[in-house]
Amino acid sequence: MQKIPNEMQAVVYRGVNDLRVETVPVPRIGANELLVKVAVCGVCPTDIKKIQHGTVSAPRVFGHETAGTIVKLGTRVRGFHLGDRVALHHHIPCLTCHACRHRAFAQCLQYKRTGITAGFEPAGGGYAEYVRVMSCCLPGVVKIPARNSFLEGAMLEPVNTVLKGVNRLAVQPGDCVLVAGQGPIGLLFTKLLALRGLKVIATDLLDTRLKLARRHGATRAVRPDAADLPVLVQKLSRSRGLDAAIIAVPVDSAVQQALALVRGGGQVLLFAHTKRGAVCPVDFSAVCVDEKDLLGSYSADVTLQPEVARLVFSRRLDVRGLITHRFPLAQTADAVALAARPEPDSLKIVVDQTAK
Ligand SMILES: [Zn+2]
Ligand SMILES: [Zn+2]
Repeated sequence: MQKIPNEMQAVVYRGVNDLRVETVPVPRIGANELLVKVAVCGVCPTDIKKIQHGTVSAPRVFGHETAGTIVKLGTRVRGFHLGDRVALHHHIPCLTCHACRHRAFAQCLQYKRTGITAGFEPAGGGYAEYVRVMSCCLPGVVKIPARNSFLEGAMLEPVNTVLKGVNRLAVQPGDCVLVAGQGPIGLLFTKLLALRGLKVIATDLLDTRLKLARRHGATRAVRPDAADLPVLVQKLSRSRGLDAAIIAVPVDSAVQQALALVRGGGQVLLFAHTKRGAVCPVDFSAVCVDEKDLLGSYSADVTLQPEVARLVFSRRLDVRGLITHRFPLAQTADAVALAARPEPDSLKIVVDQTAK
């Protein structure tokens, strides 16, 4: 095992759209903590929003879809070894508070505190060479099997958020679901719903992504402005309407379209509308009279982690094809810029410190 240096490179958020490569101390760990050498960290839209809109204070080191190798263990840590390849999980609920007893884990106060850091205000730290994993986050650390890559390990967190969203839906095999937006998250929804035996109508404005959606199990993939979309829904749902719709793109008209296309008693799940203060008119009678549910799902659920690990590492949900671009740590700002403005051939973008 390599000697751990005193200093490391980290990409520090210094203000709106200001990411700087800096030399910072390697974090020190306590008796119940781990030090992990980061291999891969995914670029997540929630971090992009914080970087571009300055919604949180600086300085911080972002990056929370992290996989790497344990290089140091606190004296009281059990169950892990030096050299273990692991995937990390940065938000862990306390499991005992009022919110947790109602399974609203993302509303738990402990959950909201990030337990993985590369220094400064904890914010994930994956855009650095080393991260400190605090004791509260140990229950979310998953070992990566020998056959699987760090890239696959870094995908556990996004897959977890998607599985959590799917579990919010009261859908049954054979049901018809619309997934609006076929970026990496939308494609994961499409794939997971198809695996569960649902008929998926995928929408996106990019032809390349419609093609990918078909490859990922969509029954039909069309543009959201296709004139025959309502007819298609009627045909595939035997004139019942959609059983559910997932909005994996922050576009208000997609919500309104979905509310119109789901059947009475159906569900519309918001997954990408994370910006505060965005408002949009809704015909409330669709909720009250037609009993259509408008739901949201945010972030991950650590209790799903074993199922997520099985899905990804068995490759039943093969995530390898979703990662299209890998950037070295020094080019994290470019990785964020590309993820913020996707191109026809770009999907999941990661910072990969193993690619030299
Ligand atoms: Zn994420
Ligand atoms: Zn709690």
